[in-house]
Amino acid sequence: MLINVATLAQEPIGHSRRYQADGESVSVPEVGFEQTITGPIRLIRSERGILVTASLDLDPVGLMCDRCLEPFEWPMHIEFDEEYVIARDPTTGHRIEADQDEFVVDGSWHLDLSEAVRQYEESALPIQSICRPDCRGLCPTCGQNLNEADCGHAAAGADHRWSSLASLAEQLRGSDEEEQHGAPEA
Ligand SMILES: [Zn+2]
Ligand SMILES: [Zn+2]
Repeated sequence: MLINVATLAQEPIGHSRRYQADGESVSVPEVGFEQTITGPIRLIRSERGILVTASLDLDPVGLMCDRCLEPFEWPMHIEFDEEYVIARDPTTGHRIEADQDEFVVDGSWHLDLSEAVRQYEESALPIQSICRPDCRGLCPTCGQNLNEADCGHAAAGADHRWSSLASLAEQLRGSDEEEQHGAPEA
């Protein structure tokens, strides 16, 4: 999505515009990035350029679950404030040096949100991809997806654990009884 800021760039600091993106596409072809954005965008004339404040819903991103290895969709929402530097001030003619990692308004007064959306999407991706909080994952014994069917291995393991806990509890109960028996005699 390109926004023409030729007029806003000539206005005093603090002047602003509001836009509403409604499924507009953004893309960074060099890295094969494509997205659509929906949500409010506010542009404010700042000292060095245009401050962009955006709150955007994106298309969900396809991920693979770390536990069950099934594909699932992750809903994407990003919010950011970023200043886009205007290289040459249209009213004073002053040149402004932008750092390499800063966003800039290009020579034809286009403000392109694509790269910002790409970066914020990247940082909004989950560190651990889990299809749902209660995903049961794959059986470590036979590889069965435990969300779809129960192969019985997990239950067998649980039974085993439970039986050793039960025998421990029995032992503890036994020693309690001994203490109780022994106390009056001491
Ligand atoms: Zn899963
Ligand atoms: Zn199994």
